[in-house]
Amino acid sequence: MSEPLGLFGGTFDPVHFGHLRLAEESIAHLGLAGVRWIPAGHPPHRGTPQVTPAQRLEMVLRSTAGNEQFSVDPGEVEATAPSYTVLTLERLRRELGSEQSLVLLVGADAFAGLATWHRWRDIFSLAHVAVSHRPGFPVEVASLPEELAAEFSTRRLLDAAALKARPAGGIVTFAMTQLAISATQIRTLLSNGKSARYLLPDTVLDYIRTHSLYRNA
Ligand code: ATP
Repeated sequence: MSEPLGLFGGTFDPVHFGHLRLAEESIAHLGLAGVRWIPAGHPPHRGTPQVTPAQRLEMVLRSTAGNEQFSVDPGEVEATAPSYTVLTLERLRRELGSEQSLVLLVGADAFAGLATWHRWRDIFSLAHVAVSHRPGFPVEVASLPEELAAEFSTRRLLDAAALKARPAGGIVTFAMTQLAISATQIRTLLSNGKSARYLLPDTVLDYIRTHSLYRNA
């Protein structure tokens, strides 16, 4: 079986170094062939992002350019329907076949909310889930909602090498460099006319300046 492929969804509003380190470090920690970034088009879980889906996609393209282990999937941005992860995974299964091991990468905060996602239990029949630590969001059974805690306990894989043995169904955690950066913090800084430099790539910041994004809270 080929190496597992990482799938990294998010609003990326805007993409920042927390996202980039998560994707970069997941490759080594989890033995991935690479990471496919999947910017959300019309995220069902939040209000309309301040920039267009096409602009968020463009920022992800700029920040990942030049990394051969990264690819960007515009599928959710190009779709008109809401971005449900389970539907994207079904599309990727049709594209990649049933044997390919797929690993959905999520931060600890996103994982804690997984049981609110559309058809969330079906996600485990389509992919593994890898949860990265994030400052302020512990990954432990006691802090998860009951239904999710039960899945976490039964599906947990203690060795990431097991991701390769099956195409889907396991949950792993991994400790990445802790970066307390959020897109919310960056939007707030920019809307207050403050510097967001060194929290995200200069190429993304240049794009934000050129297009006058995030000027208003
Ligand atoms: P916002 O502040 O707008 O909610 P965000 O910074 O959390 O945004 P998202 O695009 O919502 O960014 O996150 C995409 C994925 O990246 C999620 O799974 C999230 O948990 C993870 N993530 C974002 N920032 C970090 C970080 N600093 N460390 C670890 N994981 C992160």
